Amino acid sequence: MRALTLVADRTLQLAEAPEPSAPGRDEVQIRVRAVALNHIDLWGFRGMAFAKRRLPLVVGAEAAGEIAVVGSEVTGLAAGDHVVMYGALTCGTCRACREGRDNLCENVGGVMGFHVDGFARDRVNLPARLVMAVPAGVALRDAACAPIAFSTVQHMLFDNARLEPGETILVHAGGSGIGTAAIQMAKDIGCTVITTVGDDDKGLKAKALGADYVINYRNERFEHVVRKLTAKKGVDVVFEHVGADTFNGSLLSLKRGGRLVTCGATSGPAASLNLMQLFQQQYRIFGSFGASMRNIRDALAKMQAGVRPVIDTEVELGDFGRGLERLESRQVFGKVVVTF
Ligand SMILES: [Zn+2]
Repeated sequence: MRALTLVADRTLQLAEAPEPSAPGRDEVQIRVRAVALNHIDLWGFRGMAFAKRRLPLVVGAEAAGEIAVVGSEVTGLAAGDHVVMYGALTCGTCRACREGRDNLCENVGGVMGFHVDGFARDRVNLPARLVMAVPAGVALRDAACAPIAFSTVQHMLFDNARLEPGETILVHAGGSGIGTAAIQMAKDIGCTVITTVGDDDKGLKAKALGADYVINYRNERFEHVVRKLTAKKGVDVVFEHVGADTFNGSLLSLKRGGRLVTCGATSGPAASLNLMQLFQQQYRIFGSFGASMRNIRDALAKMQAGVRPVIDTEVELGDFGRGLERLESRQVFGKVVVTF
């Protein structure tokens, strides 16, 4: 079978790999059909000196596929079922796992495709508890965007920021994979969405996706526009993932008691914080990473109800690197998905 491995920083190699052995009693063997790309793949591709991992490493963190074989003790899954896979090796037994807070697992074995071998290969064995069925009517290509992108947004907006219908939200980088998902999910419950983009073409696409207001951050300071649009009050929630370039402006965009939720720092990790502003304005700031199995199920249910991911580009397994470069160029609107 084929497997795509990272052999050195920025060097991917598509090669023949041995077929996996028969799945264990509580495992399933999955024929992988689609891998969706995320910023974490880009971090891994560029090289992360501090990350504990060994090369070569099979890449791919977010995926969907079809069950090929089930272990003898697996119930509820059968050969031919369409499934998505959780993107990290959680233990399944610690308190966080038992309570359904999978992304706070105390003994996590690593993120697939980043710390440990990922999904960019024809077949993979996985504990059945990390696999869940794709509902009828959801294509595998779309489902592949559920285990990380859609579920991360679900977790950020609804578990952390507790976004409510009728509220106003600022979504940064509305053309990114998670930005497009955040616009759709916020509009789906009847929020007013303000989003930032880096060019006018993306602005038109964000509007078509449902954004009420679009700010081209290259032409205008977004925090000024937000204050104007909200009659100087500010927004209820800011959806952050840009980091250094936007963090202070994001705080200035919040109303008193507003919530900022962040899952990324693509423009850099360091920002200063005015503590007077933090407590006087009673801001609530949430760090968010990954999602729970429940978030993935909720994301898949939303897809079934019609909130479909925006796919920017679909590439073949051999073009995984080209997909990453497209992501890196920021010339995307939506997700890059590798299908095979
Ligand atoms: Zn655990």
